[in-house]
Amino acid sequence: MADKSFFIDTTKCTACRGCQVACKQWNKLPATKTYNWGSFQNPADLSFSTFKLVRFREVESGGKVKWYFFPDQCRHCLEPPCKDTAEGFVDGAVIQDESTGAVIYTDKTRMLSSSNFEEVRQSCPYNIPRQDPGTGLISKCTMCFDRVGNGLLPACVKACPTGTMKFGDRGEILDMAKKRVAALQKKGFKKAQLLDADSIRAIFLVVDDPSIYYKFSVAQNDVGISRKLALRKLFRPATGLITGVAKL
Ligand code: SF4
Ligand code: SF4
Ligand code: SF4
Repeated sequence: MADKSFFIDTTKCTACRGCQVACKQWNKLPATKTYNWGSFQNPADLSFSTFKLVRFREVESGGKVKWYFFPDQCRHCLEPPCKDTAEGFVDGAVIQDESTGAVIYTDKTRMLSSSNFEEVRQSCPYNIPRQDPGTGLISKCTMCFDRVGNGLLPACVKACPTGTMKFGDRGEILDMAKKRVAALQKKGFKKAQLLDADSIRAIFLVVDDPSIYYKFSVAQNDVGISRKLALRKLFRPATGLITGVAKL
């Protein structure tokens, strides 16, 4: 099986949250109690039982309101820093599936202490892993490796009604993503760009400044230097790819 990737074209997302629900259903994850916290984004954040979360931003611009939707999930990094960090504590807590590249958290994550978990979480450039305070298990998106291994699409991709989410062989997905950026730039979306496409397997396309789509809710003033470096990396556009796209 070839190396796999997602392409998430945020220009097509209507925030229907079908992907969020499908993820819960397939992974048999319990519902999360929600409340009005001033946003349509619900639940408010990812958790050990919410692997997929459609983030909402409402921005006023020139007297008009603009919505930005961002279906967040683990990026399945090509060289996952969370795996490197976890390996320093417990061998086999985080593994990578050789055929798809999926980064998978195993039952051994229970052996990580809460301070170990904090280090794993802070090493993730995208603030993804979450720990169940009851069992100690650490969890996140699995790339639906059980479905993909049987020739099926990930549940979130299968459920998406607008074509926002695509999944397939990495080469084909990258090609599709670059072509879409080129098409959008041609239509006048000058800020159309792919985020970190050369280092991750869940490739987001945005058409505005990346920081508008998603601001971290984790307090950024009390995090370590490694986390700060990681945050800087998050908002670095895939400039090499965009240059390539312009030549297509
Ligand atoms: Fe690990 Fe974070 Fe990368 Fe996912 S996005 S593989 S949790 S470092
Ligand atoms: Fe959830 Fe599977 Fe989609 Fe990951 S790939 S967000 S586990 S449905
Ligand atoms: Fe967006 Fe598709 Fe998810 Fe609906 S299912 S919220 S359109 S990514």
